[in-house]
Amino acid sequence: MTNTKKGELVVQRLESLFGNITFDDDFWRERNEPFWLIVDTILSQNTSSANSRAAFRNLFSTYQTVEAISLADVQDIERAIKQAGLYETKARSISAVASEIMGKYEGDTWSFIGGSYQSAKERLQQVKGIGPKTADVVLLFARDFNIIPVDTHVFRVSRRIGLAPQKGGYNAVKAALENEIPPGKRKFAHIALIRLGREVCIARRPQHWKCPLTDLCDYFQETSRDVYQTY
Ligand code: SF4
Repeated sequence: MTNTKKGELVVQRLESLFGNITFDDDFWRERNEPFWLIVDTILSQNTSSANSRAAFRNLFSTYQTVEAISLADVQDIERAIKQAGLYETKARSISAVASEIMGKYEGDTWSFIGGSYQSAKERLQQVKGIGPKTADVVLLFARDFNIIPVDTHVFRVSRRIGLAPQKGGYNAVKAALENEIPPGKRKFAHIALIRLGREVCIARRPQHWKCPLTDLCDYFQETSRDVYQTY
């Protein structure tokens, strides 16, 4: 008898729900410049995709290279990205990462994010404003490391389902998910859990009736099963 992990079942259900979803990262791939992935990930912290995309477009229309950003006044970067929110902090991070790449890596972002997963992550996190999630998103998409970055949706959904411990921070949740989900499915799981969190397992009112995970989900089983059974 096979002993399929809950994480694998969750992934199978989400594949049926969402199909083959992908991450929209043509912009930096077409330019072979992961600096724009780093910028995009910084801008997307704590804001909607519409706002972060607008800020990104505005920034890129003014500064098209890492060098141009490294030479720009932080106040000018702030003005360009205002729509993304937390623009002072984000502008400082974007400026700092551009200066780091120009100053220490001769403008080569691939070298900046090169090497082992651990060394690249530490290097990214040395830039103020880049935390473990932002570093992991960059390393998942640019370097294809088999990891699961944990954003606010992944935190909430994986805890509700019971794939991750209720207590413990970023590393505990990431490790639990990576233990449950096979390496080849982790990129999909990251994207799919975010989408589930945005569209179905919403923070204030999870929409269980749209969800294919009710029989697997601890939160549903503990809080809603009886209510649903009365219908
Ligand atoms: S069953 Fe409900 S709580 Fe569980 S993952 Fe689905 S929407 Fe979220």
